[in-house]
Amino acid sequence: MPWCEECSKFWNPNSLPPDGTCPACGRLIGEPPSIQKVPWHFWILVLAAGLYLGWRAVQGVIWLLQ
Ligand SMILES: [Zn+2]
Repeated sequence: MPWCEECSKFWNPNSLPPDGTCPACGRLIGEPPSIQKVPWHFWILVLAAGLYLGWRAVQGVIWLLQ
């Protein structure tokens, strides 16, 4: 339960704004949610995996056509 010292109040995590700040005073009281912005290197990995799988698919088609 996030506790706000400014407001002397416990907040329901579900009632907190997504950035984990107190709705009344704006103080950061909660953990920012675990579903954060995906780090940029994740997309590099996804792109690399996509390119690799695409290349393997092209190779597979070429192999089938032979
Ligand atoms: Zn507060």
